[in-house]
Amino acid sequence: PTWLGVMGGGQLGRMFAHAAQMMGFKVAVLEPSRDCPAGHAADHLIAADYGNEAALAELALQCAAVTTEFENVPAQSLSFLADRSFVAPSASCVSVAQDRIAEKRFFTQCAPTSGVLPAPYHIVAAETDIDTIPDTLFPGILKTVRMGYDGKGQVRVKTQDEVRQAFAAMKGVPCVLEQMLPLAYEVSVLTARGADGESVVYPIAENVHRDGILFTTTVPGPNVSAASAEQAQKAALAIVAQLGYVGVLCIEFFVLQDGSLVVNEMAPRPHNSGHYTIDACVTSQFAQQARAMARLPLGDVRQHSPAVMLNILGDIWFDGDGDQVREPAWDKVLALPGANLHLYGKDDPRRGRKMGHVSFVAPTLEAAQASLHAACAILRIAL
Ligand code: ATP
Ligand code: MG
Ligand code: MG
Repeated sequence: PTWLGVMGGGQLGRMFAHAAQMMGFKVAVLEPSRDCPAGHAADHLIAADYGNEAALAELALQCAAVTTEFENVPAQSLSFLADRSFVAPSASCVSVAQDRIAEKRFFTQCAPTSGVLPAPYHIVAAETDIDTIPDTLFPGILKTVRMGYDGKGQVRVKTQDEVRQAFAAMKGVPCVLEQMLPLAYEVSVLTARGADGESVVYPIAENVHRDGILFTTTVPGPNVSAASAEQAQKAALAIVAQLGYVGVLCIEFFVLQDGSLVVNEMAPRPHNSGHYTIDACVTSQFAQQARAMARLPLGDVRQHSPAVMLNILGDIWFDGDGDQVREPAWDKVLALPGANLHLYGKDDPRRGRKMGHVSFVAPTLEAAQASLHAACAILRIAL
């Protein structure tokens, strides 16, 4: 059998393993912790740090291709792997996505072909950079340059003094201050590009975030106009082509109240907002990643049913006092029309932790949304 390797042991690696195994591949996962969602699904788990050269060499030797599901895997490790196996996406693509400044500069370089710019920003690498922040950037969001996810490492600020406090609270790690934009709604575009340059783009997804964490993804998005959809898809294809990217990549965009499009960030891997593709598209984002890695033809991205994805966070295991009280009523959720439950095999729910998701697929978007509403009532998730 052909082996495919994954750096990282989270739910993205787990869902990748399931999809790749369906296609007959064996999957090896490299992850420090033995008890991890992908490790339980993989055919082989190499429990080692992401920088462990012996472990990396073992993974490369075993696998025809290696990818990453963890955005912050050391780029050096991907380079090390690339000397020994086929690696997609490449270390250079991943390092751009790991660094908000490199990412914004890259998006700006792409603007002549993509037609979109990132939010106006100011680099706050040192205390003295704060003095030169233009007033036009306030109110703004201070974000760490590296390692942020699910809104972690972000503080909303209104003045230079607030930036000073927030920067100090972040222990002086390099940050970027972004202007807070008047969002109408948020969308993401999932793309895949093969080693031969063939690329595909999935239908645009409309995302609702809560407390910085993705709450729902709806496709087709109720707010998305045909013009915005086309503009975002074209921009995404221009960006992946200019990156020379191989594999699945997701780009997040903001649509502003005046209708204009702004590029936020990209994830060099399958993305939470693409989970609906498992149940609603001909080729899921995870099967697509396996195809790109194995240098097989990319699959059909056609969506066969309207879909709504609801993230399941650890919060719903707890009552108001913080005691862990109950296993959610999955039987009732599964009884809803079009419900597909995906749980990631994590046995320690924590607040804000992604435990699973439910995709509702139905003949109409209204039917999918009706199931979403019913599920939220059952799970006691406020809508
Ligand atoms: P992810 O888990 O998607 O990687 P992240 O921690 O990298 O998240 P961002 O995507 O940059 O963070 O921001 C999280 C959310 O905060 C966005 O989806 C959006 O709702 C809001 N947000 C971020 N930047 C801005 C901005 N410049 N203006 C308005 N809202 C913003
Ligand atoms: Mg991010
Ligand atoms: Mg984001």
